[in-house]
Amino acid sequence: MNYDEIFPKIISHCKEYGFIFPSSEIYDGLGAVYDYGQLGAELKNNIKTAWWKAMVQMHENVVGLDSAILMHPTVWKASGHVDAFSDPLIDNKDSKKRYRADNLIEEYIDKLQAKSLKETEKKAKKEGWEPDSENYQGFLKNNRDAKKAQTVYENYVKALESGDLNALRDIIIENEIACPESGSRNWSEVRQFNLMFKTQLGAVAGDASDIYLRPETAQGIFVNFLNVQKTSRQKIPFGIAQIGKAFRNEIVARQFIFRMREFEQMEMQFFIKPGTQKEWFDYWKRARREFHEKLGIPASRLQYHEHEKLAHYADAAEDIQFQFPFGFKEMEGIHSRTDYDLGRHQEFSGKKLQYFDPEENKSYIPYVIETSVGLDRTFLAHLCNAYTEELAPTADGGQEERVVLKLPALLAPYKVAIFPLMKKDGLPEIAEKIFKDLRYDCLCTYDEKDSVGKRYRRQDAIGTPYCITVDHQTAEDNTVTIRDRDTMQQERIPIHRIREIILEKLDWRNVL
Ligand code: ATP
Repeated sequence: MNYDEIFPKIISHCKEYGFIFPSSEIYDGLGAVYDYGQLGAELKNNIKTAWWKAMVQMHENVVGLDSAILMHPTVWKASGHVDAFSDPLIDNKDSKKRYRADNLIEEYIDKLQAKSLKETEKKAKKEGWEPDSENYQGFLKNNRDAKKAQTVYENYVKALESGDLNALRDIIIENEIACPESGSRNWSEVRQFNLMFKTQLGAVAGDASDIYLRPETAQGIFVNFLNVQKTSRQKIPFGIAQIGKAFRNEIVARQFIFRMREFEQMEMQFFIKPGTQKEWFDYWKRARREFHEKLGIPASRLQYHEHEKLAHYADAAEDIQFQFPFGFKEMEGIHSRTDYDLGRHQEFSGKKLQYFDPEENKSYIPYVIETSVGLDRTFLAHLCNAYTEELAPTADGGQEERVVLKLPALLAPYKVAIFPLMKKDGLPEIAEKIFKDLRYDCLCTYDEKDSVGKRYRRQDAIGTPYCITVDHQTAEDNTVTIRDRDTMQQERIPIHRIREIILEKLDWRNVL
């Protein structure tokens, strides 16, 4: 299924089953702000739990933090966000649509590369070239579109590196890049647009009381570095992890929850000895990719992407991209941030933010490796990966289409659905008893409405991995059936073993 078909289906599935709603929907919504419904909240919490376990619980040298969203305004001066947390914005004068200049250029390069690949494949078919042959590779690199893409790319990187907004605009004009909505090429100047939301602290208006909603959770970690290090008695290398809301006034917010104005991040700053950054960068890069794979994201849908342009303070930066229906896009960033952040906070606060290393017998500002993953993008990645339409057998020997969310059991909102086969003969009482006992262990749901087939479909659509059915045999021998969502196989098990079997399936040891 292609992007145009699958993505709208995923979005409407989210709404129909209570995963995600547009914010303030009765007032026609608010641009790029979403609410998580009853099932979305569960899935989101389960992703947070997985991350927290993987980062904090499984690493003796990583501890958690929950810092405030509002911070002293100087934090954002020191971090560089007041001066440089902006995107290059360009307006189309005819359509009045606003775009990120860098995105327009990147999309243009992608298009050229796709054209070049298509042309190469066409030629290869005609000439009988294998993809790894010299002819194929040569043509792929040297055809007209590939060369053009390379030139545009080089100019683009130069413009970004020098921060030259006019040069960005020149690329758009020279290549006749058009407004995707209207096709117009009537562009404004490019200007920087700061992405931070500003608000006021207390009742007094004026610059002095201007504060920001945090655009990332990381700074709460940096300013608490010494508080946490001293009270936890951690020694370097150690990390501080936190999950929390971040706010960015994105110029172009689209692609559902991929780019929102209010979102959640799961970030960890790992403080290390200067000089060891390469080794730790590689360690976390691998560990973070493994995390996504262990949680069921196929390796083929993940890739590393090296940053074209490093921030001036970073000495390495790579993204872990997931293959969303709209292409491989960033889900997580791994950044080697040197001693920039702590150094800047030391400078702006006048307080020493150094670590005394007993082995070296000296104090220094630690270097930092950051892992920063979007909770909402991870959520979307899991949904995109799990959403499946397939044929399933019906009771009368036919087939019907089922929509099933093949989420890993530990992430699924409900773990178990419990049904009485019929609403009589004492079956509901037995089923309810099982439900009431099992809900101490995990989130369960009870359903006695409609045929069992329909109830299975309902649970498939929300990703419930196990369904337990109480039938007439239960009354005779105290056994129930347990059905697996993905294989649709049913097994008879004794009631007294339900808990043990379910808990074994939901053991984090199977995953982390
Ligand atoms: P992008 O290039 O897509 O704007 P970024 O490089 O600015 O992302 P970071 O500042 O590295 O992102 O933030 C870390 C993570 O936070 C990202 O990998 C992403 O998963 C998430 N994130 C960032 N911005 C948003 C947003 N507007 N909506 C949802 N998630 C976001």
